[in-house]
Amino acid sequence: MPRVYIKTYGCQMNERDTEQVSRMFVERGYTMTGSDADADVVLINTCSVRDQAEQKALGKMGMVRRRRIPMVTGFMGCMAQSRGPELVEKAAVDLVVGTQKYHRVVDYVDQIIRSKEAQLMDDERFSIVDIEEEEGSQNSIRDHEVAPQQGAAFVSIMQGCNMKCTFCIVPYTRGAERSRPIAQIVDEVRQLAHKGVREVTLLGQIVNLYGRHEFPALNGKSPFVQLLEAVHEVDGIERIRFTSPHPIGYKQDLIDAFRHLPKLCEHVHLPLQSGSDEILKRMHRPYTAQSFEELVARIREARPGIAITTDIIVGFPGETEAHYQQTRDLVQRVAFDNAYIFRYSKRRGTPAAEMEEALQVSEQEKERRNQDLLGLVNELAYPRYRELIGQRVEILCEGPSKTDKTRLMGRTRTNRIVVIEGRAERLVGRLFEVQIENWANFTLFGSAVLDAEG
Ligand code: SF4
Repeated sequence: MPRVYIKTYGCQMNERDTEQVSRMFVERGYTMTGSDADADVVLINTCSVRDQAEQKALGKMGMVRRRRIPMVTGFMGCMAQSRGPELVEKAAVDLVVGTQKYHRVVDYVDQIIRSKEAQLMDDERFSIVDIEEEEGSQNSIRDHEVAPQQGAAFVSIMQGCNMKCTFCIVPYTRGAERSRPIAQIVDEVRQLAHKGVREVTLLGQIVNLYGRHEFPALNGKSPFVQLLEAVHEVDGIERIRFTSPHPIGYKQDLIDAFRHLPKLCEHVHLPLQSGSDEILKRMHRPYTAQSFEELVARIREARPGIAITTDIIVGFPGETEAHYQQTRDLVQRVAFDNAYIFRYSKRRGTPAAEMEEALQVSEQEKERRNQDLLGLVNELAYPRYRELIGQRVEILCEGPSKTDKTRLMGRTRTNRIVVIEGRAERLVGRLFEVQIENWANFTLFGSAVLDAEG
């Protein structure tokens, strides 16, 4: 049977979608391969959040096709959704599949292979483009390929976003918010636990507003909190995370969940984007710097020691030095545990891309603000790493370290990376304590503390 290679760019949701498609290929008798060099089918699951991500995907496909033309080539995901048929012309691929059609990919590849075999003597090109919406497509991302000793897994609970932040392409590539039923998600988590998974991360573009259009609040609890409580009941699951949330989704019931659901890990990602109310308004982010700060205080009060990370955009159209200083001041006061800082770049098809040229901030100035803010974030975050030296923390060991394959890595409940020495067959997939001995650049180093059986 043909061999399939899928390259994935972008977020964890894309990784999860790729896992689903891979699983469907395997069920249909195809073989997955880790290299495009020997693949008959080469697919790229694309991201559109930054222009660079689109260029990378196009560059990768160009490289594959220059070396050798596989039997089937195609794009899936966000760039496929936003560019559609244009990609067949531009990149000469056979298949373009949007974000609501992942479950059709295998059928389409089958069709293309059959058509190519039947038309061996015919040079007419056959291609398939499907970027239609499909009701219920959010329910199709539900199967897993659980590897031996796999301790952590991602579970896609919803698709799409209705918020329409002016810089963001997601509402146009992923469509409107659509959530899966609680019972279906819990069943998926139960199966993962049965296969040895100890930690689940619930995924959605606006995850803490899960179910708001489909399911009612019960006893003052939003559908998202109802879901968290139901997942919390699953035996074998010991850690629960979620990403990516919106600040406005942290209502009191969710903050209270951090008090009464101990499996919820001590980490929240809270995208700030800007510390200036004027810029937040332009971004169409419905909160103020003050309400954001109050939210941080309420979360820290509910779960002391919780790590808070954020996303910030510098150089959004119209951002003056004064606006930037407001962001800087807020970062100083909040002291995030880490921050992902992005220089604003135009995304075709978003409202911000249409904002006047006169409002654009120069690349040089964006870079200066980026470096300045990075320096501040590090200065505030590093002491928390230093303080951990000599302490014991629990990690879930995930596998070999990305930077040093001879060592293992895991994550603390606060989502900090810890690198340790040890034997993979004994430690991967397990939760245990680590004595922290050192740190460097957002990574902790330590030794596993194991009982007699460990
Ligand atoms: S809430 Fe997130 S996904 Fe939705 S439009 Fe805003 S940035 Fe994009």
